[in-house]
Amino acid sequence: MTFATFPHRLPAISGFVFACLALLPLTVSAQATGGILYEGARLIVGDGTPAIESSAFLVRNGRIAAVGRKGSLVAPVGVSRVDLTGKTVMPAMVNVHVHIGYEGYSSWGVEHYTPANVLDHLQREAFYGVAATQSVGSSPTDASLAFQRDQAAGKFGAASRFFFMPGMAPPGGGPDAILLKGTSALHAVHEVSTAAEARSAVRSIAAKKIRNVKIWVDDRRGTYPKMPPEVYNAVIDEAHKAGMMVHAHAIQLADQKAVVRAGADVLVHTVTAEKLDDEYIAILRQKKPYWTTVIGLGDRSEACNADPFVDQSYPDRVLASIRAESCNPPTSGQSARDETLGDNVRAMVAAGARLVLGTDAGIAARHSFGWSDHHEVARWVQFGLTPSQAIVAATSRPAEMMGIRDLGTMAEGKSADFIVLDANPLDDIRNTRRISRVYLRGAMLDRTVLADRWKRN
Ligand SMILES: [Zn+2]
Repeated sequence: MTFATFPHRLPAISGFVFACLALLPLTVSAQATGGILYEGARLIVGDGTPAIESSAFLVRNGRIAAVGRKGSLVAPVGVSRVDLTGKTVMPAMVNVHVHIGYEGYSSWGVEHYTPANVLDHLQREAFYGVAATQSVGSSPTDASLAFQRDQAAGKFGAASRFFFMPGMAPPGGGPDAILLKGTSALHAVHEVSTAAEARSAVRSIAAKKIRNVKIWVDDRRGTYPKMPPEVYNAVIDEAHKAGMMVHAHAIQLADQKAVVRAGADVLVHTVTAEKLDDEYIAILRQKKPYWTTVIGLGDRSEACNADPFVDQSYPDRVLASIRAESCNPPTSGQSARDETLGDNVRAMVAAGARLVLGTDAGIAARHSFGWSDHHEVARWVQFGLTPSQAIVAATSRPAEMMGIRDLGTMAEGKSADFIVLDANPLDDIRNTRRISRVYLRGAMLDRTVLADRWKRN
């Protein structure tokens, strides 16, 4: 079967229907009773094991029912077959660090924070092969819980699964000056001054069955109050008692040492201005925190490169404004940053810090949802990771960290969330961009409809 004759394409849509797209499913489920047998692809499982060069996997009711070599699976009665010879399949990715809802592409702010815009951002992640996306410390709790309930109830079209956590910071501290404009208006951050207030805030978050909380430990070069140790110690202690994870923003070496030593579970940034020292390496070896690099946020935008992979999800006017504002050649300061960053990333990995995908997308149009995941993964390989290590850090490890048991690998029982690629990312990590199709819960995402909508708006 060729792609052109593949059975579950959406029919052509009228202008009226187009206007309602945000509310419509963007996938059509396979109707075959026996499921669909995908055969012939090179299959990257996502757990670091060698790829299955000529694979077969059976998808039934949105789940992976069996995985093996082509010819080794017994096809059930009524099964449809899809020939993926020449393709590579990898699990859909999981992004554990974004800021969802505020980006409006012609402007940024709280006025854009609607369920429709949250969904749009999740569709952008899905378009680029990301099955779950976590907003870190900037999403209003009650609205986010309502969105999660609605998404789980199937009220929205296909999109990346939404995860979020509340933030915690001293009064007047926390998110940077841009993000603060959104989070303060929506009260997304709990302001805490004392250990007692911190414990009480954590308990109120835990009572809503939220598994994660973010803290900021940063004085923004002396312009912000920094969360004191007795407060973050209380947050961490109380969170761990409730079985929650603490995600820490700390970008100075001394602050990262302090929060990791105190038991923070996830670092949401990499130290870029200082080289890591032996004391920190020893702490990392002992604690092995999860960690998102967020390298791309400091990089020149890929929207400067006229790469159709990036351009396809931006309206032309946004591309023009990014190119007018942020496409200068790298400065010597940036090369120095890159050198320190490369050294620090390698040192973190060698010390056992558990790298997971996070992009910080959503705080600037120039570094946005979806494509920035591929930028991050490619940067890791530039810094010395193997493509296989990079794929693990973008798939199974973040799923494990977030406790999403049905995502992250191409294995029996998992949700059928995967990317079909035209080329092998184990040969060249940039081949994660050669996306032929994305499947979520066993259904093919209609990427053409999405790209058309984004190009127009
Ligand atoms: Zn962030």
